[in-house]
Amino acid sequence: MPTNTLNFNTISMNTTKTEIAFIQCRSLSKSYYKGSTVVTPLEALNLDVAKGEFLALMGPSGSGKTTLLNLIAGIDTPTTGSLFVGGRDLGTLSRGRLTQWRAQHCGYIFQLYHLVPILTAFENIELPLLLDSSLDRKQRRHKVEAALDLVGLSDRGHHRPTELSGGQEQRVAIARAIVADPGLLVADEPTGDLDRTSANQILDLLRELSSQFNKTIVMVTHDAHAAKAASRTLHLEKGQLIENNAPQSTQSTTNTHA
Ligand code: ADP
Ligand code: MG
Repeated sequence: MPTNTLNFNTISMNTTKTEIAFIQCRSLSKSYYKGSTVVTPLEALNLDVAKGEFLALMGPSGSGKTTLLNLIAGIDTPTTGSLFVGGRDLGTLSRGRLTQWRAQHCGYIFQLYHLVPILTAFENIELPLLLDSSLDRKQRRHKVEAALDLVGLSDRGHHRPTELSGGQEQRVAIARAIVADPGLLVADEPTGDLDRTSANQILDLLRELSSQFNKTIVMVTHDAHAAKAASRTLHLEKGQLIENNAPQSTQSTTNTHA
């Protein structure tokens, strides 16, 4: 992964999609203990996601979608089973190594953006880069500017979150998620709080990150329209994943970034 340069025109562009799954879950289970009660949202789950694939994950509330996302993102660890991401067995990493892995390899996009309100858009996007001591100020600035440009907000870097629309805030959050050039993006209902036009812009951006920059994306959504932007949809029910056989759209949802 490039660490000293950021050029979104070249990153991963020439990487062909391989047959080996980028995300591979085998008999993956996750249990939580609430007092003496055990809750098992994920039970012996198998999943393969190819490099550069854009996967939509649907399912009823409480079915374990966020739990699965957090496992794939290295925020939480499996109870049993194996989970490989980019060839790395996440189940074997310590908490500290998992945090390091996440900083380099995974960007997380939240429904409510989670931007720091007292920081500008530029400073919010720069935050993940401050963890990388090999980068000087100028290198960080180039990366932030490239990320702002990619999300169509080059003229908004000096604005604070309160001065941006919801759609713009989410685009800043996406810039923050990609600024360190991770191979994996996970998004938990990224369009859940947006109007249709802003949602379509976010979905187009995610599609572009998958198709042009070969990012592997797992997006949780309740919205069938949003799921159509993905290349595949899976439904999580009773701890298991069920394939949706309905044809997926390959059309752009919108052509402009407002
Ligand atoms: P979804 O995102 O599909 O709505 P979640 O993954 O958030 O579902 O939750 C699945 C189940 O796991 C729920 O029953 C929830 O209460 C439980 N759960 C999730 N996280 C925790 C936790 N940290 N501690 C205890 N139970 C949890
Ligand atoms: Mg959830």
